[in-house]
Amino acid sequence: MLYLLKPGELSLKGENRKDFERVLKRNLKTMLGKTRSRIEMTHGRFYVECAEDAERTVEDALGHLFGITGWAKTRSCEKTLDAVIHECVSEARELFSSGAKTFKIEAKRTDKSFPVDSYGIMNAAGEAILTAMPEFTVDVHHPDALITVEIRESALIYGTSAKALGGLPVGTAGRGMLLLSGGIDSPVAGFMMAGRGMRMDAVYFHAYPYTPEESRQKVIKLAGIIGAYTMGIRVWTVNFTKIEMRIKEGAPSEWTTILLRIAMMECAEGLARYRGAKCLITGESLSQVASQTIENIACTSSRVTLPILRPLIGMDKERIIRLAERIGTYETSILPYQDCCVLFSPDHPMLRGKVTDAESLYRGLELEVLMHEAFTGAVMEKCGFYEE
Ligand code: ATP
Ligand code: MG
Repeated sequence: MLYLLKPGELSLKGENRKDFERVLKRNLKTMLGKTRSRIEMTHGRFYVECAEDAERTVEDALGHLFGITGWAKTRSCEKTLDAVIHECVSEARELFSSGAKTFKIEAKRTDKSFPVDSYGIMNAAGEAILTAMPEFTVDVHHPDALITVEIRESALIYGTSAKALGGLPVGTAGRGMLLLSGGIDSPVAGFMMAGRGMRMDAVYFHAYPYTPEESRQKVIKLAGIIGAYTMGIRVWTVNFTKIEMRIKEGAPSEWTTILLRIAMMECAEGLARYRGAKCLITGESLSQVASQTIENIACTSSRVTLPILRPLIGMDKERIIRLAERIGTYETSILPYQDCCVLFSPDHPMLRGKVTDAESLYRGLELEVLMHEAFTGAVMEKCGFYEE
């Protein structure tokens, strides 16, 4: 089977194009691993050829590959008009049986030695389809299905392409450090930044034994799911129990969540620098919860100098959930395991904290030694890497 891939924004990026193509090819090659397949790039076209038993693996990979906007299963045949028409009719049958009511044919003849021109090909194929399936009608403006014929080194026929993720190939935009909790939002945030070409590690803060091992397993599972899009993800688990206890004992209860977030950011930044990550990524969305008012976001950002990317900041929950469903994390995210903030859930959390207050409370906690201990005790696990 031959697949034709449509590169996305790649084509717009002039100078960097070669690099993007190289990374895209490398990613796909990694995804396909030992599958019997061949990837080829000619004239700015991207093809994957594979044995029939590898089709599912290939299609699954294409569904996880950032950097292409679509793909089509392509029929190739002998370069004669009869053979081309025959394949067009077969393709039309398939499109019709999958629900299309109208079609249009487009032909491109790059090989001028082919005796019939594009117009002739369109006419002949169109007529053959109408004869075979009179109920399948032509609509040149808004067809349900588009059948494309290309006469180049070989003759290629393909129908409307399946939609892919778009975006840029993972590995073209540096590395980020994702703060990954077991919730709905942060996995989606990671997915979105991967779609801008970012590779990433993740850090998860847990409060074992106050939060059960199942909570961590849930995060590892989520990382495995998004790892399939991000070309693998290293998850760093940091035990924050002592830090949470210190915050609980040493700070007014309305401040505890904000102070915990500051500590998380600070630790995540340390890990980011250690791993060469150039930014932090969180699943925050403006005003979604008390800790995410703009004032509190200012507090939680105050000690970090790396950029903090918050791709969900302007999205409402419904859109985030829809995306989570699409990428496959939702079902896992809603499993009912305790989050790490279980140690404190203040009745009246501070809604609009002042950065100067947050700073002085945080300094008063003298977390340096505990932070160093938590940081050096971080345990790493590789999730969602493809077998090469
Ligand atoms: P999520 O659905 O991602 O858990 P949320 O709506 O529950 O987000 P918060 O609990 O306020 O919001 O967390 C805000 C962000 O802080 C999260 O999206 C995540 O990036 C980070 N975060 C929160 N808890 C943790 C944790 N235990 N480990 C790592 N990061 C965390
Ligand atoms: Mg959460």
